[in-house]
Amino acid sequence: MIKAVRGTRDLLPPETALWNHVESVVRDVFRTYNFQEIRTPIFEETQLFARGVGEETDIVSKEMYTWSDHGGVHSDEGQQALDILDDTKISLDERAAHVRAFLAASKLRSQFLTLRPENTAGVVRAYIEHKLGDRGLNKLYYIGPQFRRERPQKGRYRQFYQIGAEVIGPASSGSESPARDAELLEMLATLLDRLGIKNWNLQLNSVGSSADRARYNDVLRKALEPVKDKMCADCQRRAGTNPLRVLDCKVPEDQPIIATLPRIYDYLDDASKKHFEEVTAILESVGVPFEINHRLVRGLDYYTRTAFEFTHGALGAQNAILGGGRYDGLAELLGSPQPAPGIGFAIGEDRLVMALQESIGDAQQKPDVYIAPLGAGMNREAAKLARELRRQDIVAELGDETFRLKKSFETADKLGCRYILILGENEAKSNTFAVKNLKTGEQVSIPRVELAQKLRSGQ
Ligand code: AMP
Repeated sequence: MIKAVRGTRDLLPPETALWNHVESVVRDVFRTYNFQEIRTPIFEETQLFARGVGEETDIVSKEMYTWSDHGGVHSDEGQQALDILDDTKISLDERAAHVRAFLAASKLRSQFLTLRPENTAGVVRAYIEHKLGDRGLNKLYYIGPQFRRERPQKGRYRQFYQIGAEVIGPASSGSESPARDAELLEMLATLLDRLGIKNWNLQLNSVGSSADRARYNDVLRKALEPVKDKMCADCQRRAGTNPLRVLDCKVPEDQPIIATLPRIYDYLDDASKKHFEEVTAILESVGVPFEINHRLVRGLDYYTRTAFEFTHGALGAQNAILGGGRYDGLAELLGSPQPAPGIGFAIGEDRLVMALQESIGDAQQKPDVYIAPLGAGMNREAAKLARELRRQDIVAELGDETFRLKKSFETADKLGCRYILILGENEAKSNTFAVKNLKTGEQVSIPRVELAQKLRSGQ
């Protein structure tokens, strides 16, 4: 038997109804904040993520699904180029350059491609490519699958779904303002409340400007020098390459050391401090509760200033329901001729649905009525009646004229139908139908014109 690939899963009814519910509430809420939907491709050039997300992140260095899209390579050189793809000892950029050089030499038209591990880089690429800023399209949202080769566990998948939004634009559009950060966070609080998610917790920090971070990174590097030998292998490596990432470490033995490290807030410049204070002041004035978490630096390299995460108690180890932050400078890094500061977030939809399942029970759709045609020629009458009822928003299931009455009752029961309607020759002629309530066993005759209303009201 062929099964779904490890780390992927089928979303089945009745759970899909919950997914649709979440997405429709999301669309409703985002619309009132004037966000509009964008749909970018599921795969992009590898370089976009190598540059946009950062080579040193776990996502880019370990978790991407990348391939060379060359339409088949059959030579030895081609095989060598492919082998280099798997060589994790050299950086992705170098690997990409090597494959590009091979392709250029072999005159194959091809590219180095990656399944998107996140959607911000794609949105920013589209923003630059289509000059969305010139058209005032500064508030965009997306819903869709993302791919990361992570170790699968509850709440962590290799294909998972994110709902995200980005505010991006030239500084003149106000995209740099702390008011945007606060607006986005307030929108998220509204969304979670509207969905009925209880016990969420907003964790907030500022990771400063890139100059602040460079300064803080130096301080951290020095602070880590005498202690790094006692830390995990990842931290030892990060202490040299990207000390900020050490704060992300989840290894229990490293925590006492991390607790003694300097705090980033003390190394922010005045402008970053003022920005952060204004974000928190607005949140206080609109009544959105938050907690400052000095260690929150998030997994992606492109964040500047505001960084945040919402967590939820019921989710266990994978308790981050969404994360995001400001990314001033990302657009320039991806080739934008003008600066386009921005801020965004990504909600893990799988986890959001999990949190909702705690509070909502059985959401399976139940048909209102099972139409049981009885005898030859009655399928036609049944099709006509079903069409009429469905146009009046009644959920109808159709039986078959070859079924015996007993089988129709059993099927209606299994489907959880509220009513069964018998449609034989007499009923078709008289336009009055025997309708039985499958729960109470009560049976009544209902004229055709009253059917939809009676079925709806449950009378
Ligand atoms: P990130 O893009 O890493 O900031 O993640 C944003 C959110 O996406 C997280 O808070 C999670 O809720 C969700 N998420 C990230 N990776 C996964 C995964 N492998 N499986 C399920 N959800 C994920």
